[in-house]
Amino acid sequence: MNTQLRQRHVVIVGGGLAGLAAAAALVDSGLRVTVLEARRRAGGRAASFEDPVAGGLVDACQHVAMGCCTNFLDLCRQAGLTDALRHDRTLWFIGPDGERAACTPSRLLPAPLHLAPLLFGMRHFSLGEKISLGLGMLRLARFRGADATDTQTAQAWLAAIGQPERVIRLFWQPVLESALGESIDLVSVSAARKVAVDGFLAHREAADLHVPTMPLGSLFGDRFVVWLESQGVAVQTGRIVTGIERDAAGLACAVACGDESLACDAVVVALPWKQAARLLPDLVPVADDRLAGSPITAVHLWFDRDVIDLPHAVLVGRVSQWVFRADVAAGGSAGYCQVVISASRGLLDGDRDRLLETVVAELREIFPAARTARLVDSRIVTDPTAVLSVRPGVDAARPPAISAVDNLFLAGDWTATGWPSTMEGAVRSGRIAAAAVLAQAGRSRQSLTADLPKGPLVRLLTGG
Ligand SMILES: Cc1cc2nc3c(=O)[nH]c(=O)nc-3n(C[C@H](O)[C@H](O)[C@H](O)COP(=O)(O)OP(=O)(O)OC[C@H]3O[C@@H](n4cnc5c(N)ncnc54)[C@H](O)[C@@H]3O)c2cc1C
Repeated sequence: MNTQLRQRHVVIVGGGLAGLAAAAALVDSGLRVTVLEARRRAGGRAASFEDPVAGGLVDACQHVAMGCCTNFLDLCRQAGLTDALRHDRTLWFIGPDGERAACTPSRLLPAPLHLAPLLFGMRHFSLGEKISLGLGMLRLARFRGADATDTQTAQAWLAAIGQPERVIRLFWQPVLESALGESIDLVSVSAARKVAVDGFLAHREAADLHVPTMPLGSLFGDRFVVWLESQGVAVQTGRIVTGIERDAAGLACAVACGDESLACDAVVVALPWKQAARLLPDLVPVADDRLAGSPITAVHLWFDRDVIDLPHAVLVGRVSQWVFRADVAAGGSAGYCQVVISASRGLLDGDRDRLLETVVAELREIFPAARTARLVDSRIVTDPTAVLSVRPGVDAARPPAISAVDNLFLAGDWTATGWPSTMEGAVRSGRIAAAAVLAQAGRSRQSLTADLPKGPLVRLLTGG
C-alpha cells in the first residue's frame, strides 16, 4: 500500500448516520479517519433519551427501514447489527371502523403481482377502490419526474388522475406521509413515485419492514461506534466543530473545534443543511427557500400494562398514524407504546393536551386492553425539522457530495442522493462522499449497494 495514502487524514464532521456511513466506507482504505460529533452520543437524529419510568434508553422517535433500503441494511450487515433488526413482512392496517387487515406481500408471485394479497387484504376498501388503487399505483409508476408536470404535488396529481377521495385519504396519505415524512399536499409527484416503485412495486421484499429491536442510541451510538473503533476509526463525541480552515490554495487543511485545530487532508461535512451552511457559507447557501424541514411528532405512552397486541399498526383516517409496541428489549418497559405522526405541523393547533387525549382515545377505541389500562406517564416529542420536505423543485437545491473545494465533501440526508431524507438517504450520502474522498486520493471503489433488482414485468409496467 502507498505510504503517502496511508498517512492521509480524513476528518468527518457529524456523527449521524451519514457521517458514520462515510467512516464505515473508508475502513480498510488505508486512510486515517476521525469522526467529530457534537453530542455525547453519535447517531444524530436516530437518537434516544432516558426513559423516565423504567430508566434505560427510549427512542426519541421510532425509526423503521423498508426492504428497499439496501444501503442501510448493508451497512447494518457490515457492522454486525442485523441481529438488532426485526423483520416484519406483514403490514398491519387498522381501517377507519377499527377493522384489522394483515397485509402480506406474496413470496411466490412475481413483482409487482406480489402486491395483490396486500392490496386485496385491505378490508376497509371496496373492490372498486382496490382496483382504482392498483391502477393509480401503476399510473404513478409510469410518471416521468423529469417532465414539466413535476411542479405538481402528489395530492393534486392523484386527484387529477381520478383516485377516489377515500383511496387518497386512507391509503396514499398515510403511506406517503410516513414514507416521506411530509404532507401529501406538499410532496412532489416524483417523490411519491419513488415510494410507489422502490418501496412497493419493484420487488417482493421492497415493502418489508425492518424495525430496530434495541434503542437507536445503543444501536448506532454504542454498538456501531464500537465496531468503527475496532476497525481503526477514531470517533470523538462532545466535539463541536466551529470552522473549517483553508490553506493558501483554498483547500481544507484543518478542522477547528473551538481553540483546537485538527490537521487534515480531506473533510466530509455530514451535517444538516442549516449547520452545514453556518460552517460553509460560501458553499452552502445560508437561506435557500427550497430547503425546508418537515416536523414529525412521537407520542410516548406508558400504560400500567401492555395494551397493543400487534407489533405495529398503520392507523388510517385518524390523527395517530402509526403505533409501535416497543419490544422490552428495544428499551421500552412493559406497557410502553409509541404513536408516530408525520408532517405534524399545526397538529390540533399545537394543543398538546388535546393531542394526548386524542391519541389515547384512538388507542382505546382500537385496542380493548387499552380501555381498562391506566396511563402512567406520557411524553410528546416533536422534531420541527425532522426531515427535508421533498416538495416539487427541491432536487435542484440538493448539492452533490463534490463541492467547489477539491478536498471538501458534503454528506447528509438532504444532499443529492435521489432518495428522500431517510436513514437510507443518509447512508447513501455518506457512502457517496467516501467514494469521492477515495477518488480524490486516486482510488476508486464501488460506493453503493445495488437496488433490489426489478423483474421484467416491473420494467415493462413501469416503463423501464
Ligand atoms: C422524528 C424522526 C423520525 C424519523 N423516522 C425515520 C424513519 O422511520 N425511517 C427513516 O429511514 N428515517 C427516519 N428519520 C430520518 C432519519 O433520522 C434521518 O434522515 C437521518 O438520521 C439523518 O442522518 P444525517 O447523518 O444525515 O443527519 P443527522 O442525523 O442530523 O446527523 C448530523 C450530526 O451532526 C452533528 N453536528 C451538528 N453540528 C455539529 C458540529 N458543529 N460539530 C460536530 N457535529 C455536529 C449532530 O449532532 C448530528 O449527530 C426520522 C427523523 C426524525 C427526526
